[in-house]
Amino acid sequence: MRNEEMLLIPGPTPVVDSIYDAMASETRGHTDPRFVEIYKRSIENTRDMFKTDGEVFVVAGSGTIGMEMALVNTVAAGERILIISHGYFGDRFIQLGKAFGIEMDVLQAEWGKQISIEEVKNKLQEHTYKAVTITHADTSTGVAADLDALVPVIKAHGALVILDGVCATAAMEEDMSNEYGGAGNKIDVVLTGSQKAIGVPPGLAIVAFNQTALDVRAKMDRVPAYYSDIQNWIPIMQDPSKYFATPPVNLIYAYDEGMKIVMDEGLAKRYTRHAAFGRGVRTALREYGMTPLAEETVAASTLSCILYPEGVKDVEFRKALADKGVIVAGALAHLGGKAFRIGHMGNTTEQMLIDCLTKIGETLNELGQSVNTEQAVNRFKEEVQAIV
Ligand SMILES: *Cc1c(COP(=O)(O)O)cnc(C)c1O
Repeated sequence: MRNEEMLLIPGPTPVVDSIYDAMASETRGHTDPRFVEIYKRSIENTRDMFKTDGEVFVVAGSGTIGMEMALVNTVAAGERILIISHGYFGDRFIQLGKAFGIEMDVLQAEWGKQISIEEVKNKLQEHTYKAVTITHADTSTGVAADLDALVPVIKAHGALVILDGVCATAAMEEDMSNEYGGAGNKIDVVLTGSQKAIGVPPGLAIVAFNQTALDVRAKMDRVPAYYSDIQNWIPIMQDPSKYFATPPVNLIYAYDEGMKIVMDEGLAKRYTRHAAFGRGVRTALREYGMTPLAEETVAASTLSCILYPEGVKDVEFRKALADKGVIVAGALAHLGGKAFRIGHMGNTTEQMLIDCLTKIGETLNELGQSVNTEQAVNRFKEEVQAIV
């Protein structure tokens, strides 16, 4: 790998050489048939990944523009949504709702915990909601949403399910053809970014709408957006030789290679690998006296938020680890200084995580803790070998 450092933050994630190579290919015109073919293939792979009966959108932007596309194309000003928030990124929908004059109710979980399904049911009885937003894996807390429990309840209410997959897509199952606990109980919209579990550099928003959601948009005569209006993109996604706004040609090369890697590994295998990585990393870190914020039963496969043991200082720890070439992220909001966040997703490998866990053990020992690095690494290997 060309990378000199291990970028184990919750996105961007490590980029493999073949993706760098693709990205460095000659920039061609966006209507050049040689580019159009690549754009088309990447869109088809995206459709296959989500298994949607609607349409997918692959456009320049970050995950946040994906959130915006999901919202403005389904909910009009004055209509009401319910936000199920498991942390900082769940809360981001509040800012978006405000910007577009959308009425909102918010269920905010205690950080590290899941919202109980009872709370959701109660809330759904109080109001009629056009849509409910769920963050699949909240990047601030490492908590995963329980789609099996949530989707049927929301669909029984008749609301659209909008899923923020930014730290989950391609690593945690988001099958839009899946009927959760009954006919028609499907996820309506999923949005993600290129730089997290897909493992491509930042710069693309990827959004999938099912037919129900597309119909909802078609019935709204006007939406308060231009670039984010999916009606402008539908013709392009169906025929990428058409022009609406110039696609980021080189990022599409990278994304095409990234999606090939995803589909070649196979989704089922990728989901199991991520689950094993997540469990393995947390098991090893527990050996070091660290505590994952989220209980194992609600923990995301893709990243973990880890509380420091007594006596370990955040900045000191992350700096010492960075000096060894491993980059992890600080925690957000009130957890700042008390925890760090580690990504274990995308094209991160078993060997990288072994190296990373070894270096964390060494760092802790240098900082005056007394941990058994070999034992922790072995615990990781046991978890991973059972599956991968
Ligand atoms: C990173 C992230 C976002 C924001 O994506 P950007 O690409 O930074 O705009 C939104 N939701 C979740 C769950 C994320 O992890």
